[in-house]
Amino acid sequence: MSELALYGGEPAVREPLGTATSVSEADVARVADAARRGEISYDASEGLVAELEGAFETRLGQRYALATSSGTAALHSAFFGLGLKRGDEVLAPTYTYLATVMPIVACNATPVLVDAEPDTGNIDLADAERHVTPRTRAMVVTHLSGHPVDMERAVRFARRHGLRLVEDASQAHGAASAGAEVGTRGDVAAFSLQGRKLVAAGEGGMLVTSDTDVYERAVMLGHFAARSEQEVRTPGRVPFAKLGYGLNYRMHPLGAALALGQMERLDRSLELRAATFAAYDAILREIPGLDPAPRQSHVTRHAGYSYQPLYDPAAWGGLPRSVFVGALRAEGVPASVPSSPPLHREPFFTCAETGVETFAVDPDRHLYRAGELPRGEEYVASAWRLPVPAQALPADVLAGFAEAFRKVAAGAEELRKKGAVGT
Ligand SMILES: *Cc1c(COP(=O)(O)O)cnc(C)c1O
Repeated sequence: MSELALYGGEPAVREPLGTATSVSEADVARVADAARRGEISYDASEGLVAELEGAFETRLGQRYALATSSGTAALHSAFFGLGLKRGDEVLAPTYTYLATVMPIVACNATPVLVDAEPDTGNIDLADAERHVTPRTRAMVVTHLSGHPVDMERAVRFARRHGLRLVEDASQAHGAASAGAEVGTRGDVAAFSLQGRKLVAAGEGGMLVTSDTDVYERAVMLGHFAARSEQEVRTPGRVPFAKLGYGLNYRMHPLGAALALGQMERLDRSLELRAATFAAYDAILREIPGLDPAPRQSHVTRHAGYSYQPLYDPAAWGGLPRSVFVGALRAEGVPASVPSSPPLHREPFFTCAETGVETFAVDPDRHLYRAGELPRGEEYVASAWRLPVPAQALPADVLAGFAEAFRKVAAGAEELRKKGAVGT
């Protein structure tokens, strides 16, 4: 009988990975206390939400932080804050979570997709060059998997072309490029505080900026009446502050209660993730045909949101990535592959039809073809992923992972012959 768990052998990892969270008992108590006090919604800038905003302002040294109901809402507020108009183009990565890009459409502007770097999947600033037109107004970059974009380069690019720069830092709280933390170099940054993120409110987001104009516009989009009347100061806007622009993007106070302690402990939790990262590096370095997750030289801190190396079938005698990952999973290693194509392969970007009638979609927008942004497609076809839990992995689990990789490497020939058809 085969040693490989895929074909009926004993799995190398017996302990399933628990559902570790970064929530402490003190966080839970803060939520319970707020609920008991009936502190479950705010009108103005106050209480737990104001405290969480203060924590972001202080950490990032920015003038303003605006809590929102989601990271998507923070991104929408950021693009709205820039004052985009119909026909304006925004450069955006083709490989990112959909919420980096679709709020551009909700602002009546046109996303122009840019190819991916082959190693990190982050936006390729060299490719961005050819997509700049006289209508380009802004660029959004995503710090994917906790690996920051080279922000010195991104800022230089944006300045050279007169573009506003938006950072989607939803997967990278605390990451730094050339010593500067994400959310400090762009004109405005958005963070998600969704349940799987590095600081988790459950559902929630945070916009951060030092630009008063961007901030006031963002407040007027999603924080009508009390808060906008309190904070909007530009004379021409004051009469309009109360009504706002039609949305309620306020954060739930209990979400803020849950996130506050995690924000205070962010550096400690990034250290725990860095330890898991280093352990994964050491395991993969021992295995011929595997490289550790990439880390570019400008990175001074990787946030360790997920561990994302590249798989080269040629280094495994042509063994498909799906069989490699399937064999690891059978051994009890929760490896996975990207679950979505790059955005330019999604129907919204390839079809003239959009499913619903909407005023916001540019009828003359570009429709994308397969192969048009090839490195984004190659990245999705070759990346694979190991989860990085919020808590450090016990030594016996890591030893099990190492054993699983050794077994899969030793069984490569058998895997090539039999494929994914197990017993
Ligand atoms: C999670 C995420 C978002 C969206 O955040 P929500 O809080 O789920 O709305 C946006 N961009 C990226 C890169 C994300 O990972």
